[in-house]
Amino acid sequence: MCGIVGAVSDRNIVPILVQGLQRLEYRGYDSCGVAIHEASLKRSVGGLKRARSTSRVSELMSQIETDHLESGTGIAHTRWATHGAPTDTNAHPHVSMDGSIALIHNGIIENYNALKQELIRQGYLFKSETDTEVLVHLVDFISKKENVWFGEALRLALLNVVGAYAIVAISKNFPGQMVAARKSSPLVVGIGANGDFYLASDATPIVEYTKRVVYLEDEEIAVIKLGEELKIYNISDQEKTPYIQQLELELEALEKGGYDHFMLKEIHEQPRSIHDCFRGRLNSSEGWVSLGGLKEYEQKMIQAKRLVIVACGTSWHAGLVGEYLIEELARINVEVEYASEFRYRNPIISEEDVVIAISQSGETADTLAALELAKSKGATIL
Ligand code: GLU
Repeated sequence: MCGIVGAVSDRNIVPILVQGLQRLEYRGYDSCGVAIHEASLKRSVGGLKRARSTSRVSELMSQIETDHLESGTGIAHTRWATHGAPTDTNAHPHVSMDGSIALIHNGIIENYNALKQELIRQGYLFKSETDTEVLVHLVDFISKKENVWFGEALRLALLNVVGAYAIVAISKNFPGQMVAARKSSPLVVGIGANGDFYLASDATPIVEYTKRVVYLEDEEIAVIKLGEELKIYNISDQEKTPYIQQLELELEALEKGGYDHFMLKEIHEQPRSIHDCFRGRLNSSEGWVSLGGLKEYEQKMIQAKRLVIVACGTSWHAGLVGEYLIEELARINVEVEYASEFRYRNPIISEEDVVIAISQSGETADTLAALELAKSKGATIL
């Protein structure tokens, strides 16, 4: 699951954003990015600047250092792609055509295509394949058409949006300000002691800076302005009183989600992890499955004489579950093998086989060797 971090303060918040992303890194992601407001430390004038990477957050950090990004207002994101490949261009934040609004988003905009076609008719050019870019252009379009500030434009935009989202946006014209909204995707705002604010998709990046937090409810919009009170509105523009909670847990306990051990937490998180993993990839009401990375192998898999799953440890157990499911649903013969056995026993593999390697770390040496072996025998490799 992807992550969101944002902050406004009168000090440089870029290290807070990066560290926040690192705290969310364990959830998995395929790319990351940050956008900041150059003028917000009152040291300089300027607009929004961003850095994005399909590599680790540590690589993003080097870009940030090279570009000397420093600011008191910024947003950052780790992406788990649903619409469009994991590339630099698809990584968040996305910006409006004139560069005045930057926006990050967790979730899926279900009616993005209809919105996109309308925006294209209005002259908007799209640079990415994401559903998210629709949001930033829509906010820009409404803000110009209705002559309203970007926070109001976001609220009006959301009236037209079907889907799940946690969204945070900043604007070149409003340093020290951030607008956030959520529906079916968590977002928490931390209220600092000095008029500063922190925001994230869970409390772990925030707890170091404040224990006073507000969990946004579905279809609520938070308007955050440095040095002012936090304002919360619903999507119909009615003001709500923020329910401020005191975080009881320390960082370590929070990271463990209230469980005694990470192992327990991970076990209990399995339903949610599976749900998150399938978000945007499986639609049971409409009856479709879309697994981007597998698309080009679909025919090979359907025609395969058998599928061989090679893995070690926990991944091997996952393979066993896969065997049951695939045989049950697809009626294709599946074999699951320990990669360490497979690689040393001269297995019979032909070009009609599809070999699926599973590795939690991506680095399991036996599994990588098994993969190479299967490849050398002409099998299709996944
Ligand atoms: N749907 C968006 C995308 O594909 C956001 C995915 C996410 O939740 O990270 O870019």
